[in-house]
Amino acid sequence: MCGIVGYIGYEQASPHLLRGLEKLEYRGYDSAGICVYDGKILDVFKSKGKLKILSEMIHGGADVKGTVGIGHTRWATHGEPSDINSHPHLSGSGKFAVVHNGIIENYIKLKEHLMRRGVKFFSETDTEVVAQLLEYYYNGNIIDTVIKVMSKVHGSYALGIICIDNPDQIIAVRKESPLIIGLGKNENYIASDIPAILAKTRDIYRLENDEIAILTRSDVRIINTDKEEIKKEIQHINWDISAAEKGGYEHFMFKEIMEQPKAFRDTINPRIRGDRVVLDDEINLTPEQLKNFSKICIVACGSAYHVGVVAKYIFEQTLRIPVEVDIASEFRYRNPIIDKKTLVIVISQSGETADTLAALRESKKCGSYIISIVNVVGSAIANESNDAIYTWAGPEIAVATTKAYSTQLAVVYLLALYFGDILGTISTMDYNKYLSELRLIPDKIEQILENKENIQYFASQQFDNKDIFFIGRNLDYALSLEGSLKLKEISYIHSEAYAAGELKHGTISLIEKGTLVVALATQEDLFDKMISNIVEVRTRGAVVLGLTCEESTEIEKCTDFTFYIPKTCDLMLPSLAVIPLQLFAYYVASLKGCDIDKPRNLAKSVTVE
Ligand code: GLU
Repeated sequence: MCGIVGYIGYEQASPHLLRGLEKLEYRGYDSAGICVYDGKILDVFKSKGKLKILSEMIHGGADVKGTVGIGHTRWATHGEPSDINSHPHLSGSGKFAVVHNGIIENYIKLKEHLMRRGVKFFSETDTEVVAQLLEYYYNGNIIDTVIKVMSKVHGSYALGIICIDNPDQIIAVRKESPLIIGLGKNENYIASDIPAILAKTRDIYRLENDEIAILTRSDVRIINTDKEEIKKEIQHINWDISAAEKGGYEHFMFKEIMEQPKAFRDTINPRIRGDRVVLDDEINLTPEQLKNFSKICIVACGSAYHVGVVAKYIFEQTLRIPVEVDIASEFRYRNPIIDKKTLVIVISQSGETADTLAALRESKKCGSYIISIVNVVGSAIANESNDAIYTWAGPEIAVATTKAYSTQLAVVYLLALYFGDILGTISTMDYNKYLSELRLIPDKIEQILENKENIQYFASQQFDNKDIFFIGRNLDYALSLEGSLKLKEISYIHSEAYAAGELKHGTISLIEKGTLVVALATQEDLFDKMISNIVEVRTRGAVVLGLTCEESTEIEKCTDFTFYIPKTCDLMLPSLAVIPLQLFAYYVASLKGCDIDKPRNLAKSVTVE
């Protein structure tokens, strides 16, 4: 969550820090700050609010002299967003400066301990405890002191540290919160995510838990807490730089919506060989192991959880194995009934989602086999699962996910086909039909995107609503959840998703004249049932946007507006139907003038509980 950058080199540090932080803005934050060693002191500039405020305060960095520095964008967890609570935090005498992502869980105890010994605190944050502990335990050896402090703090942290006694080095530490080292020529960087350094270097190290990196201008050393050197492979990032930039679009979200055909193709193509889905390189399960599973548990958060809800229908249809879907933050604390006969599938774009990672570890303890669906190579979730299947969506910058959702769904289809083939639960005819339809999905998404103006027109008529309901049955219900979430997260319009048949058991009382209901009726078998539900809400005054497949024009008799998607097999319709829902949310938010890529209170990858 939020952002860390650090620079050590021969150029002025502050413009590098501001530029890096700007690239991390998408992650969501409420305040920003930098600290640069100016030759005498660790000089800190920080402010509540957008990075622009900080940048103006220091004239784009021109006011801050020094070639070593650390910067931070904070997403407050402990202590309100304020100037004083912003990072970097200094220790009492100004000897240490610290930036931190994550949460120090035992900070109250540590703070009380230090206060009893006369240490004075300035902020309400958990982070300041780290700065104060560094000074408290400092014995003249910076590395020993960092290791000592690491042994005292519990929780999650990515830390960037500078000490005035050796201002020619930055120390970086990681536990459960991502941190990378960017390797330059006569300069080195730290960052919590790749876009921050991509313009400067493509060679990185990924820090693992409990590793300590010591950066100088010319060198990076990595050690463990026993001070043993760690040899690391350099990872070369070959992302197209424009992939991490807006590339002419007004918003990252729109760009990412438009990138979905490519992302979907990139995800499925390498795994389709001839007329088969081949995941042998990525999945190490034997057919015997697979046959032994008595259930599948899918665990995730947010939109990834909604992919899980779709996946339940797909896996149960194709594999005939019972599937449970759980929200990771619930699953991890409810002593789940799972064992080695359970296949656990975890889904996370960033691969660092704290609750999902914890759920994965919980499942591991119970002996379950873990497959993860993640977008970020080498992320914690990918590393800790038995098998990781990557979505090749490229960097997703907008907080509201679109292409990650679509590519996660693509992986679900691949898994259904691959496992169904091994288990013999899909007939040859169905297998061939599903596979040829899967190949056509990207083209059909393109077709939908070409008609986006229809959705834009409808949004222009309806963006002023206070409440919007999404209804559907089975797969359409699973998709309603995502349509509703997309809308509320970026447009701030209250919205609910309901199983269409359930509406009359309570929520229909909220429908009044003019309430907008988005009715998903893509599933052929349930079409007539959906028509009845649409008529029910319309009778009570609702305005209805119908979403269905070409040819099902009958729906127009009972809707105010209809959007058609191309036909494909029922199981794959969510991949198409989600596109107009994303576009609808986008256009509504855009017409309302919302900060689409950085919706209020939200962060991109949620690395805290
Ligand atoms: N827990 C720290 C704070 O509230 C860091 C939050 C973050 O990751 O930005 O200051």
